[in-house]
Amino acid sequence: MPALDAATLLMVLTMVDGFACVVWLLLGEALRIAPRSARRVALYHGLLVLAWWPTLPDWTEPVLSLPLSIICAGLLTAGVRGLMRLQHQLTDVVAVVVLGLVVLALVNPNLNTARAVVNLVSCILALMAVADILRGTGFRLHITGLLVLPYLVLAGAGLWRAGGLLGWMPAGMGLQGLSVNAPLALLRLVVNLAVTTGLVALVLQRLIARVRHLTRRDALTGLLNRRALEEQLQRLQAQVDRGRTHALLVLDVDHFKRINDELGHAGGDAALRHLAQVLGEALRTTDNFGRIGGEEFAVLMPDTDEPGAVLVAERLRRLLQERPLTWEDKIWPMSASVGVAAMRAKDLHGRDAMARADAAMYAAKAAGRNRVHCAAALGVAA
Ligand code: GH3
Ligand code: MG
Ligand code: MG
Repeated sequence: MPALDAATLLMVLTMVDGFACVVWLLLGEALRIAPRSARRVALYHGLLVLAWWPTLPDWTEPVLSLPLSIICAGLLTAGVRGLMRLQHQLTDVVAVVVLGLVVLALVNPNLNTARAVVNLVSCILALMAVADILRGTGFRLHITGLLVLPYLVLAGAGLWRAGGLLGWMPAGMGLQGLSVNAPLALLRLVVNLAVTTGLVALVLQRLIARVRHLTRRDALTGLLNRRALEEQLQRLQAQVDRGRTHALLVLDVDHFKRINDELGHAGGDAALRHLAQVLGEALRTTDNFGRIGGEEFAVLMPDTDEPGAVLVAERLRRLLQERPLTWEDKIWPMSASVGVAAMRAKDLHGRDAMARADAAMYAAKAAGRNRVHCAAALGVAA
């Protein structure tokens, strides 16, 4: 294998960072993907290009490369925090960066100690990024391990290099030396590629989450949409076929056209959002609350029998009646008719139970509205 020389590796590193900077600017500014975080990450890569420009004279390292490296590490952690959709407060990151810069200024005449400080600060900031990723994914995603790996590598590399510079490592292991040598440049390149890959993974995870959200949610109310409800119905039907007990309800707002006529379409939309919020707060997290279309909603209730579902339906009906809509200083009473049905093992599809609940809901309308009817009691068979 031909010997790797530091100058070529540093040139490659600079090109990788320059390229990544442009890509993040495009992602953030042109495609509007996480623009604030993308700007931080673009700045991180852009400043790294400047910090490690291969032909910079040696004297610039303590006054340019080292302080910039600390700032870059802070920008990276800030970018990760934004990409994880955590709160955008950055006091802790800024504090570590400022503290790092102050310590750096204090030890600066000693170049090796200064480099060790930079590496230790980078290590701390990388560990903060790890903590952010763990918080952001809630330890649940199986890809969490992959997402944190680059930052663990970054933290480990920082610690390793700092140990070497401070003489804690066996000779030859510590990548000592005042000038940037080939193993050190290679380490930097590997870490940089790992971080770049990790950032791409974070963006991909965010895009996948957004697409999933868009395809499964109703745009007006944020509830599950018809497609998501039907997917869940199919899953529940399979469980019913294996002996579990599930029920569902269909709820239709009474005289909704009047709300639209009196308050305008925007008022009607507000009424639908109001209903979604009021009833959503009253349901269990295991219930699937969705909008079938128009002013018609459904709640799928796992592990609930028909009498239990009737109780839930009655609670929702009363709650809606007790919490009228307030719209432009007008108070508008709302009510709904509800149909309840149990899912049955002999049904071909979960939609069959939905059709029975729908028929019960229309029976409730016919009986005078603002009431709950149950498919079994009506003898509704679909
Ligand atoms: P009923 O008591 O028999 O259910 O009467 P209704 O007026 O609630 O029912 P109908 O089905 O006659 O009218 C529903 C109306 O809901 C008609 C439609 O214009 C309106 N609508 C459907 N989707 C939306 C929406 O997203 N926003 C608004 N503002 N109105 C909607
Ligand atoms: Mg209606
Ligand atoms: Mg309707």
